[in-house]
Amino acid sequence: MRRRIIAGNWKMNKTPSEAVALINELKDLVVNDAVDVVYCVPAIDIPAAVEATKGTNVSIGAENMYYEESGAFTGEIAPAMLDDLGVKYVIIGHSERREYFAETDETVNKKVLKAFEHNITPIICCGESLTQREQGITLDWIRMQIKIAFQNVTADQAKKAVIAYEPIWAIGTGKTATADQAQEVCAGIRAVICEIYDAATADAIRIQYGGSMNAGNAAELLAKPDIDGGLIGGASLKPDFGKIVNA
Ligand code: PEP
Repeated sequence: MRRRIIAGNWKMNKTPSEAVALINELKDLVVNDAVDVVYCVPAIDIPAAVEATKGTNVSIGAENMYYEESGAFTGEIAPAMLDDLGVKYVIIGHSERREYFAETDETVNKKVLKAFEHNITPIICCGESLTQREQGITLDWIRMQIKIAFQNVTADQAKKAVIAYEPIWAIGTGKTATADQAQEVCAGIRAVICEIYDAATADAIRIQYGGSMNAGNAAELLAKPDIDGGLIGGASLKPDFGKIVNA
């Protein structure tokens, strides 16, 4: 039985003091022992967010990190820095990072390997554009993304990974994939993991859906057998996030 994981992606929102206020506002709404709850917050908010979530059921994640240990990489954040602050998860390869900051499947793979070296759980994003969906190549595209992201990742590591299936056309647009569309791709991702590793690894890995998930559509999406949670953008900044956790 895979444990559910609901993660918020705050993107570039909330100052450190606003982050603490939101964490306090959501505190009682997100209590649920059966679910892993994660807030992936802007890097500058991490120390305040870790402090504000101490003693709660919420873990803190980062939205990105670099794949080198240290050195002349102005503006980047090393995995050891996140680990030192108590960060447990990191989003890798979000479509906004791919689109605006030139991330590729190869940099995603390097970051995934580095996250595991530091015992930080990667939330590995994949997803197709609207054009790719219309061309009928969604599953081919995602298969390629997953195969590259998991190069040199061991089965034991893969079992601990989280994959977020996020159709790009559904992110921040208010358009959600139907539960059947999301299930089809999440099952396809599990099949690729089975092909790369084995059935036990495919059975263990957690796959989230992300893309305009909200309090109204979460229950139907989360009822699907291959959807183990959600990566939530807009709705993670509102009390609605508590309803998603409890859906
Ligand atoms: C996201 O940014 O990962 C996301 C799913 O955003 P939204 O929920 O706003 O579509």
